[in-house]
Amino acid sequence: MKQVAPKEPEQAEELFVTFANTLSYSRGRPVEGLPDIDALLSWLREQGLISDRARASEAGRLHRDVPEAERRMERFQMLRTLLHETAEEMTSTGQPSAEQLRALNHILRHGLHYHQLRHDPDATRYTLAQVGDRLDQARATIASSFAQLLADDASDRLRVCANEGCRWIFVDHSPTGRRRWCDMRTCGNQAKVARHRARAKARAMPPVHGVPPVQASV
Ligand SMILES: [Zn+2]
Repeated sequence: MKQVAPKEPEQAEELFVTFANTLSYSRGRPVEGLPDIDALLSWLREQGLISDRARASEAGRLHRDVPEAERRMERFQMLRTLLHETAEEMTSTGQPSAEQLRALNHILRHGLHYHQLRHDPDATRYTLAQVGDRLDQARATIASSFAQLLADDASDRLRVCANEGCRWIFVDHSPTGRRRWCDMRTCGNQAKVARHRARAKARAMPPVHGVPPVQASV
């Protein structure tokens, strides 16, 4: 019986998924979607994680302090690596490792922020100021979208694309929960073509000394 892949329902993608896939893979080679601090700040702005004003002021500050810009980049890259590694771990063992959980909680804790009332120098009015590091807050917001998936008991819907050269992360929202590829038209189709080729090759090569030909697994 021919099976038709269910159409993906229209659904907003989880923030952590969008962020994790800023590092994508093309035939197994990494493709960096956030190559510098400006790209990172623009991405955070696009996602509504920082304001336009914050983006401009962080850009100014980090252009003047290159080592600090590198440290900030590293913090986000660390989260992205953690998301990829945790997704791999969860798709094979069903849950994150204790160390991965600790790392995630560490990031959540560093996004701590609070509001504080401040009195004007002339003591005529109060203003409400947000205290905390805005980039660490943005990073914690991404991390918490991932933490929410675990808290919602939906971790069994987390997938890493079955195409080895792709490794795209996604959450399977299909009713059957049997989606294996990030995109049926690209990766799913590639897998079908590869299976077809392997079968054709196996037919073309007759078995030697009665040993059956090795079937390439996809
Ligand atoms: Zn894929």
